[in-house]
Amino acid sequence: MFVVKFFREQQYYTFLIIIITGFISCNDIHEYRVDTEFQEYVNRFTTEAAKRGQKYNFEQDGLIIEFTDLSDNRAGLCHYEKPIRIEIDSIYWREISNTKGADEMKEDLIFHEMGHGILGRDHINTLLENGDWKSIMCGGDKVGDRPWNINYRGERRDYYIDELFDESTSQPSFASMIFDGDSTGFSDKVYLSFDTSDKSDFGWEETDNNSYKITNDNKRLKFESKLDVAFLILAETKVNVLSDFIFSFSIECQSNTNTDQYGLIFGSQNNENDAVEYSLINNNQKMYMGNRLWYSYYTELTRTTINKSGINYIKVFKSGNMLYYFINGIYSYCTECELDTAGSQFGFFVPPLGTAWLNDFRIMTKQTAQIKSTGNTKSDVSFNVYKVETNNNLILSK
Ligand SMILES: [Zn+2]
Repeated sequence: MFVVKFFREQQYYTFLIIIITGFISCNDIHEYRVDTEFQEYVNRFTTEAAKRGQKYNFEQDGLIIEFTDLSDNRAGLCHYEKPIRIEIDSIYWREISNTKGADEMKEDLIFHEMGHGILGRDHINTLLENGDWKSIMCGGDKVGDRPWNINYRGERRDYYIDELFDESTSQPSFASMIFDGDSTGFSDKVYLSFDTSDKSDFGWEETDNNSYKITNDNKRLKFESKLDVAFLILAETKVNVLSDFIFSFSIECQSNTNTDQYGLIFGSQNNENDAVEYSLINNNQKMYMGNRLWYSYYTELTRTTINKSGINYIKVFKSGNMLYYFINGIYSYCTECELDTAGSQFGFFVPPLGTAWLNDFRIMTKQTAQIKSTGNTKSDVSFNVYKVETNNNLILSK
């Protein structure tokens, strides 16, 4: 009796221990702990996967995404544990949260880490024909010191999500280097030749103050910065930045290093904190497109059409919400515009302590017969010069 009872108790306790152990380990493997900040992006991942016939139930199967302080300039890190555990750098997340485009950047980061952990994808650092990263899975060892900025917006976002779930996704049309827009039917609305110092032909007033000097240098406008800050030099025109236009000029820039950026800008209001869209180049043959309200530029491209010294001719053609960029007459890139308020600022960007020469400042618009310009292409502009901090925000690796 006693023996039997003892045996039964031992069996009972062993059984109980098995159940408890099983329960604990079961809980571990299927733990779901996703900070509320990340939940929206996990939901989107599940939705995008479902659209492609892949079903995930992370709350049932387990997933951990948590804030931490990551070292080595990392934004996110995926641990191949059970369940998959993803760490996101809390400082970086907070910093991008304060900028326009934060939603796209956060989705890009979470999708990239889930690409590793859930889809089993590795880094891939090849490029599309136009120089965009081929994949949202770019990361790891740098390629030619290129920053990790990825133009994860608009039609590119759709492509990058397709590619995330199917690596063999074919090259998208935006990556083509053949210009397919229609830039016919445009005529001069504003034109400054800088051939004389006459206000109607030179626009800006010649000046020499503590911050900068503007002179007419052999039929070009010469802007010399005296400060270790960048300058936005803008013309207030009557051309709405939300309308279709072609904006161009030639520019030469000398500054401290060949990595200093200079180029073309346009924006909404007469305010240095306002949205300004830009297309900048440097004498190291790099090109940067972006919007000053965003955390950093959309992406960096190498363009051998950029002259390493001397004059470069930059042109942007805006059609609807698309911007088509040309350098020295060669089509270079297209991307969506982020401006959403009306305004009429067009100008150029000069790096800290830089000197720039500007020529043939031209804005063309599509004019209907009713509102056709009366030839008043020169006098209807006023001008502003703003000091701005250069944006050195780094996109961290994933
Ligand atoms: Zn990665």
